[in-house]
Amino acid sequence: DQGRNRFRFYSSRDPKLSLIQQDLNWAHKIRTAIHEEQFELFHQQINTADGTLLGVECLLRLRDGEHHHIFPDAFIPAAERMGLLKHIDRWVAQRAAQLLTQSLSDSSLAAEIGSYLSINLSSGTLADSEFAFWLLELLDAHPGICSKLRIEITETERISWTREEIGFVDRLRAQGVLVMLDDFGMGYNSFDVLKKVRFDGIKLDRQVVRDLGSDPVDRALAVASAAIARSMGLQLVAEGVETQDDLAALLELGIHHFQGYMFHRPKPFASELMQPEPL
Ligand code: C2E
Ligand code: CA
Ligand code: CA
Ligand code: CA
Repeated sequence: DQGRNRFRFYSSRDPKLSLIQQDLNWAHKIRTAIHEEQFELFHQQINTADGTLLGVECLLRLRDGEHHHIFPDAFIPAAERMGLLKHIDRWVAQRAAQLLTQSLSDSSLAAEIGSYLSINLSSGTLADSEFAFWLLELLDAHPGICSKLRIEITETERISWTREEIGFVDRLRAQGVLVMLDDFGMGYNSFDVLKKVRFDGIKLDRQVVRDLGSDPVDRALAVASAAIARSMGLQLVAEGVETQDDLAALLELGIHHFQGYMFHRPKPFASELMQPEPL
């Protein structure tokens, strides 16, 4: 009902085999998409309550025909199972770096981006030392973009952070890149990870925001998150802000950075209409 292209597969016989078949299909689609430039970055604004633009988050879409896009929830789990997520994340990081480089001389793109461009990295990609090396090299070669790049890290099923992964985050931050812990309040170990890894901020997950008014556990999570962010000096962004009631409840908790349909929906970059310049 939100115009989202969600796929659902049915199998009456062997659900396991069909999952494998689906994964293979997605793997083929994803490889093709990388080679034939069928991925596209949308972006969604992060703003203050009065609508002032702070920055944008890049959200991945897979073009499917002329006017349709497939949303990441449809293909990211398969990509992760097939070991392709790091290739997707690399494409996204490369594209984001292009956009930021272009924004240094393109004032309309700079205005569209605001103070920062945020990208999502999965924790699996973080564990890939080849990716880490590649990204740090890219940033070394383009120091002008570091202060405008943000990285949002989602914890999936993994609980432990290795010394290499923590070191990667530290090096990104040393380069001036801000690193946010994504999906806070939903993850497996949200509070624990704050003891191990230094982040610049947290993003309160939209499911916590959605149920803030009705679920006492989500309310407690939001209250605790706000208190932790304040006492640790972390930025806090609430995502999935849909209604005036959501906004009022968040403001009451002292939260001032918002992302959600109430303000803006994800949309393509105006510059996506043009061919990007190679880095
Ligand atoms: P996320 O990082 O938590 O991103 C926020 C999601 O919430 C986006 O969904 C966004 O469109 C949606 N959203 C924003 N405001 C609202 C709202 O007010 N109400 C509701 N119901 N939803 C809202 P999207 O674009 O479908 O992305 C889903 C997830 O896919 C993202 O969740 C992120 O984990 C992953 N993802 C998206 N792009 C990338 C990417 O480039 N790389 C990786 N590794 N993951 C990505
Ligand atoms: Ca995110
Ligand atoms: Ca989220
Ligand atoms: Ca997420």
